[in-house]
Amino acid sequence: MKINKVKGTHDLFNDEARSYDYIELLFKSVANSFSYDSMRTPIIEHTELFQRSTGESSDIVRKEMYTFLDKGNRSITLRPELTAGIMRNIVENKLYATSDLPIKCYYMGPNFRYERPQQGRYRQFYQMGVECIGEDNVFYDAECIIMGYHYLTMLGLENVKLRINSLGGNISRNNYRKALEEYFSNHIDKMCDDCKERLKLNPLRILDCKVKEDQEIVADAPKISDYLTTEDKERFEYLCELLEENEIPYEIDEGLVRGLDYYSHVIFEFHYTTESGLNVGAVGAGGHYDNLSEDVGGPKMSGVGLAFGEERLYGILNDEGIDTHNKVQTDIYIMPLGKEQRQNCFWLANELRDEGYRVEVNLNNKPLRSQFKIAEHMNAKIGLIVGDEEIENDTIIVRNLEAKEQESVPLEELVETLDEIFGLVDHDHDDEEGE
Ligand code: AMP
Repeated sequence: MKINKVKGTHDLFNDEARSYDYIELLFKSVANSFSYDSMRTPIIEHTELFQRSTGESSDIVRKEMYTFLDKGNRSITLRPELTAGIMRNIVENKLYATSDLPIKCYYMGPNFRYERPQQGRYRQFYQMGVECIGEDNVFYDAECIIMGYHYLTMLGLENVKLRINSLGGNISRNNYRKALEEYFSNHIDKMCDDCKERLKLNPLRILDCKVKEDQEIVADAPKISDYLTTEDKERFEYLCELLEENEIPYEIDEGLVRGLDYYSHVIFEFHYTTESGLNVGAVGAGGHYDNLSEDVGGPKMSGVGLAFGEERLYGILNDEGIDTHNKVQTDIYIMPLGKEQRQNCFWLANELRDEGYRVEVNLNNKPLRSQFKIAEHMNAKIGLIVGDEEIENDTIIVRNLEAKEQESVPLEELVETLDEIFGLVDHDHDDEEGE
């Protein structure tokens, strides 16, 4: 019986796998240019980490976690997001005490949420993100958003819509929460069961409800902007000013609350609709947080972070026809003419790889005609042909596969010949010598 992949997961191969590599590579490079350093944390964590950080009232913790007891009877969860693990790492290893603050890191990897699979929504999906932890400074909030915007522009996405909102600090949020409790208590009888539970756990979550009838009630709910303290309001205004000064277009979306419990002050989402109308929801999102460190047992420490969903980025890049899957370029394809030559060719391939060339060698004894075809598929520039005669004379046939010309070269001159063909000869040096 054939075994298929688990529902909500996907395999990556060929162009798609290459695109994901590119999406990640560019992300690393942009993150580096903003001085975010690499950090990796485990895929499995204690369930309690997410209960305490992501939050008991979030849909993720309530309904979507892959949780199991391991053989030692510990409750383990496949991470549904990465920020909690990053903060646990910083707290557990006391990185805040030994590093210059803020700690700026980037990371990537698979996450797991038991959601209803649909376009742009998987049960195993890849995220890449950054966090800046240890400084409560609105400049870092702005920097994080600018980094995200910059990355999307570098990918070639020009119609990015950035939505932002402020949830304020603890005082503003508590006041707003009370106002929402009061408002929704008067309407809750008509609302869905999920909202009834949300009202008990965290009424802010109700703002995220997707049920149409509930949305009409949500539309008339109190607005956060009316509950921000003067200080929080000024902080948000200053952030907006920084975005404007750095030419980052944004729109304020008062309905934006984000699905994780730890956020305060600015929260944001990057949206994108392709020319053909494809909209996969938010391609990236994030926000500021003040209580997360303490939630996982650390000192008071603020942070800001964002995460992009790779599936969604791939979806829109693909739909926009933006080429992100350049085939791995093979420089040289080595073609043994018989079984006996394979060992020599195998050795030669590794020697040339040591010289920095991207080399593939045919090891399955195909006729030369088929080997030419494979070399062509691989876009190789040079073919190296090795038969009995070449082995006997210590020579090799160097064939320019584009120009369809070939010459016999003594083995000891091979690297020199290749360097010349690939333009790796130090011409300045040659000139100097010639003078
Ligand atoms: P979140 O961690 O919920 O703030 O999500 C951050 C980003 O991850 C979103 O903007 C999406 O791009 C992506 N994402 C979240 N959940 C999924 C999912 N189930 N499948 C694919 N991408 C997702």
